[in-house]
Amino acid sequence: MVRTRFAPSPTGFMHLGNLRSALYTFLFARHNGGRFILRIEDTDLGRYVEGAVDVIYRTLKSVGMNWDEGPDVGGDFGPYVQSERKGLYLPYAKELIKKRKAYYCFCTEEELSGRREAAAARGETFKYDKHCLHLPEEEVQRRLDAGMPYVIRQNVPEHGEASFDDLIYGHIAVDCADLDDMILIKADGMPTYNFANVIDDHTMGITHVMRGNEYLSSTPKYNLLYDAFGWEKPTYIHMTPIMRDATHKLSKRDGDAYFEDYVGKGYLKEAIINYVALLGWNPGDEREFFTMDELIEAFSIEGMSKSPAIFDVNKLTWMNAEYIRRLSTEQFTEYAMPYYQQAGIGTEHADVLARILQPRTEVFTQIPDMVDFLAKLPDYDAELFTNKKSKTNSEVAGNVLDMAIPALKALPAWEEQAIHDTLLGLAEQNGLKNGTILWPVRIALAGKQVTPGGAIEIAVLLGREESLRRLNLGREKLQ
Ligand code: GLU
Repeated sequence: MVRTRFAPSPTGFMHLGNLRSALYTFLFARHNGGRFILRIEDTDLGRYVEGAVDVIYRTLKSVGMNWDEGPDVGGDFGPYVQSERKGLYLPYAKELIKKRKAYYCFCTEEELSGRREAAAARGETFKYDKHCLHLPEEEVQRRLDAGMPYVIRQNVPEHGEASFDDLIYGHIAVDCADLDDMILIKADGMPTYNFANVIDDHTMGITHVMRGNEYLSSTPKYNLLYDAFGWEKPTYIHMTPIMRDATHKLSKRDGDAYFEDYVGKGYLKEAIINYVALLGWNPGDEREFFTMDELIEAFSIEGMSKSPAIFDVNKLTWMNAEYIRRLSTEQFTEYAMPYYQQAGIGTEHADVLARILQPRTEVFTQIPDMVDFLAKLPDYDAELFTNKKSKTNSEVAGNVLDMAIPALKALPAWEEQAIHDTLLGLAEQNGLKNGTILWPVRIALAGKQVTPGGAIEIAVLLGREESLRRLNLGREKLQ
């Protein structure tokens, strides 16, 4: 059975790159009827950010990426938080020491930095020189008994090649001479990521390791550990990076790289997931819109791209607008409500608001700017009434308002159909184009030329009293 894991480090908010790693890992498991496991990699205490685990849970749950095993739901291979597994790693490291595939290292930070500087002075990159590998066994024991601080390092062969086949990147080979004897257990007793990922992936029965390509070059070292233990290796799928442009990765330093930032900016979660899914994967046909279930159905490793994807916020925004258009009026209103409130407009005609706003909303945060004229009439100039296309100038506009104001005032009920019939009736009775009537009315109601919705809808939204007040004000401006 396929078992995949998403193994984030709780170091901050959910970056879109992380979200995509989680998504592909989830989709691959689900597509194959396998299990999706969440593992929190918190061994680097220095980088731990309070609350980050909650962000991970919240994000995955909110988009429907539910895990089968993980810290909160448990499972047969727990605990699923690395710091809670602390006691598990040392015995494995000791087993490697017995096999001479790892060794205790007592070199202090000062000694190491001295050697590092000397190497730099020679123009070489520092690589641990296996100094402690050559300590006699009794000396090692003496130091351990004396309670000297130590780390445990991997004993990488000095010659030869370490290699593996990645499903995306193909054959990856590194020269062992270029590999450092990386630390497996730190002085504080915590495993490094480099060690913990191997032990955990093996003991959790992970069959497919899917992660960012930054681990590509370390994977041969991890495989040396699998070999040392005599364990079967997982299948590796390293993902190409998401780029900000042709040469820069979309980094955590880019302000715009976090999932929750986009949600806050008025993007729909479903649209973000859909867009992110297509950053580095395609279904092999022209389809662009996918629900989570459709992604599960369509996802395959073969569809994953071998070259980096460029994050295009315009494409995401376009997709978001498409998602918004497909919402029901009720759904649209629910999402828009906080923005209506922000703009301070009434919402008793939410259906009219949705009708005029839904087709032109790309992100919900645009709404306040589109409707603020409803809350407060902008200062505007009488020049606005002049429009060649509607054949209006200030004289025509004045005449139109002279007719429209009493006609509207006389309406027994302020209803859309009645307002419509009244205004279009005026056009017909006077042999005018509809636009010649509607333009000045809309200008007076809105105080601006470009508005979502027309004169009739705006009149409904403003209500009788405010509409008549604005129409009279417009009339005065034309005097
Ligand atoms: N904790 C690692 C990270 O957040 C995960 C790498 C992996 O999936 O093996 O980058």
